[in-house]
Amino acid sequence: MARDYYGILGVDREATEQEIKKAYRKLARKYHPDVNPSEEAAEKFADISLAQEVLLDPKKRSIVDRGGDPMEQGGAAGPGGGFGGFGGVGDIFEAFFGGGGAGREPRSRVQPGNDALLRTQITLEEAFAGVKKDVTVDTAVLCNKCQGSGSESGAKPETCDYCQGQGAVQEMQQSFLGNVMTTHECPKCHGYGEIIKDPCRQCAGDGRVRTTRDLTVNVPAGIASGMRIRMANQGEVGHGGGPAGDLYVEVHTAPHAVFAREGNDLHLQLRVPMYDAALGTDLAVENLAGEQTTIQVPAGVQPDEEIVLHGEGMPRLRAEGAGDMVAHVKVVVPTDLSKDERAALEQLRESHDDEARVHSSEESGGESFFSRMRGKFRR
Ligand SMILES: [Zn+2]
Ligand SMILES: [Zn+2]
Repeated sequence: MARDYYGILGVDREATEQEIKKAYRKLARKYHPDVNPSEEAAEKFADISLAQEVLLDPKKRSIVDRGGDPMEQGGAAGPGGGFGGFGGVGDIFEAFFGGGGAGREPRSRVQPGNDALLRTQITLEEAFAGVKKDVTVDTAVLCNKCQGSGSESGAKPETCDYCQGQGAVQEMQQSFLGNVMTTHECPKCHGYGEIIKDPCRQCAGDGRVRTTRDLTVNVPAGIASGMRIRMANQGEVGHGGGPAGDLYVEVHTAPHAVFAREGNDLHLQLRVPMYDAALGTDLAVENLAGEQTTIQVPAGVQPDEEIVLHGEGMPRLRAEGAGDMVAHVKVVVPTDLSKDERAALEQLRESHDDEARVHSSEESGGESFFSRMRGKFRR
């Protein structure tokens, strides 16, 4: 398993050279043998010194970023020339980026890696506040034994003798149309035009191995369900240790017991007893930050009325402000009246000058019942 050099220094993967040096100096002041003579500190000091060395060296850092460990076997610290011994990462990149040209050519042994997709679920509270989510990716990383060269000894690949390095072979085939010349991938080198004589035993010459890797995804506040967060160069390392693709983390929000999200608005239903609807009341609601918010239900509130609390909804993604909280009033009529309650209501009915009757369209501002119903369904 590759060491977490970023973690040792406590810097993130995008850290600049200055940030790395700064983090190193800070830790060195704590663990330098002159300051702290304990054995534990000495080990720690060795670790941070190594981490700084690796992360300040672009070649080594690039190996780390592809999931490898430049200080393991075959790395720069090892005997036998280290990096130079197997052609070096630089050569790999030259092979990948350089050359090229049109026509039928052997394909580069070093291929760019695929992007990877991972799904993760968060709560609505986490979407509200933003969260650092730990995920485990099953991915292809650079083989730490051969550093992507694919060779056990570090020897450079040899030109394939079957296709003379062409990567393809031509064959005359007899068909009912006569003789046809066909070209197909060289079966010996699989189209690479070169052969690794002593394939690395850990990766079988592929230059990469599968492993699981733990990553922390920064999920921003206000993220909508189904959005993808791109993590550059955290996808699969390519064949031959080629540059890693990107990792996309698709974030889904679990349904919430109280709130339903629509855009940046948060909708909830209020259950308001008939008496409270008539007299008005204050209702405490716990918002997604875990704080109590008061919803003032005005006296005379009607069923299906909406009470809007501006700016109490979801924060806007990477922007200022927030959506609204929208409370939908559901008026509840009692069905289990006691004798006294019934008498009280009957008294109320008699004193109040209103009665049940057919509702005319003039009373709803000329809007017909049917158009109102249609409007409801469209929402
Ligand atoms: Zn290998
Ligand atoms: Zn071949």
